[in-house]
Amino acid sequence: MVVKPMIRSNICMNAHRVGLEIETQEQIEYVKQQEPLAGPKRVLVIGGSAGYGLASRIVAAYACGAETINVAFERPASGNRTATVGWYNTEYLESKLRSDGVYGATIYGDAFSNEIKDETCRLIRERWENVDLVIYSLAAPVRTDPATGETYRSVLKPVGEPFTARTVDMMTGEFREVTAEPATDDEIAATVKVMGGEDWELWIDRLTAEGLLAQGCMTVAYSYIGPELIRPIYREGSIGKAKEHLEGTAARLTEKLSKLSGRAYVSVNKAVVTRASSVIPVVPLYGVILFRVMKELGLHEGTIEQSYRLFAERLYSDGEVPTDEEGRIRIDDWELRDDVQERVNEIFHRVDESTVRDLTDIDAYHGEFLRIHGFGVEGVDYEADIEP
Ligand code: NAD
Repeated sequence: MVVKPMIRSNICMNAHRVGLEIETQEQIEYVKQQEPLAGPKRVLVIGGSAGYGLASRIVAAYACGAETINVAFERPASGNRTATVGWYNTEYLESKLRSDGVYGATIYGDAFSNEIKDETCRLIRERWENVDLVIYSLAAPVRTDPATGETYRSVLKPVGEPFTARTVDMMTGEFREVTAEPATDDEIAATVKVMGGEDWELWIDRLTAEGLLAQGCMTVAYSYIGPELIRPIYREGSIGKAKEHLEGTAARLTEKLSKLSGRAYVSVNKAVVTRASSVIPVVPLYGVILFRVMKELGLHEGTIEQSYRLFAERLYSDGEVPTDEEGRIRIDDWELRDDVQERVNEIFHRVDESTVRDLTDIDAYHGEFLRIHGFGVEGVDYEADIEP
């Protein structure tokens, strides 16, 4: 079938298999060109089919030579529907791993459920005995608590008062003012339930109870802080409350892992274009400017560059893992550099519809949004009939 992008409200509903194969291959090539790392050997990635989780998995496999097990919520193609992005990414990556002789497997299903945790533990025991790195990279809108059966939905809203700001439609370049009403207490609590650290802790407790964590193991979950400009909607908003909870969980998990001399970290990563980040209000305007400024300063990174730097210069560099005062790994250091933020701020306040193409990287940002769904990839014939 011929597959064209179907986009609604910044959400792309379909995916192009051939484009995603090329995109995934580019990430593999990037890592192969870097120095090999003395890193982990048996890695569990929870949420390893797209975005930061996929990039982390590729670094583990191709820089460290690690075997990987991935857990992801994706579905194959059926009828006239394409598969999801993460399905195509994963199927391609695993075909490459097989031909390169490196073990990799994926359990498709809901990582929040007990059943998927059971299945994952079973596979780890059969295949490896234990794990030396657990990456937790879920970005989910909804979670059913396995203990109560209750379902929670996360929201992206400010806390306390409404937040009004200009944003840009990355498809059209049109500006508009958006107001986000504050989250209710229940909505904040639900967002913490979905995107906080509770499920990460359940995973680590379960792996510990089954004796599936290696001596000296590490676990890492991903967070974001971002600049003042988007603070009311991100760090001080409902999602920020969840990230605070995730960060608090890291300290508790490190205590729990002390018997194994293990460590839990939160890594604060930079803003990149992923399926999850495209739906956060105001972030696209910040993103298109950030892209321009970081490229001008030679500091631009995507998920694969960030993940390689995380492994090479933080997790598996010699000596202690460097962290900030709160114990967090900071790989958002370049994004938050004073010179970067000063320049972003200056553009943010003066850009408008007539200057957006000159002052920001809107076309490249939009291109990246399409590419993470397999569209707009060089060398792909989008008129061709493909087997989805
Ligand atoms: P993404 O949407 O690209 O990937 C999310 C992954 O989660 C996919 O593999 C998906 O299959 C998996 N997933 C979602 N629900 C699941 C479920 N119920 N069961 C199993 N798997 C499920 O997201 P991303 O942007 O890479 O985000 C990953 C983490 O990185 C999040 O914690 C996010 O907050 C953080 N982060 C993102 C950015 C950014 O700019 N995108 C910046 C800093 C930190």
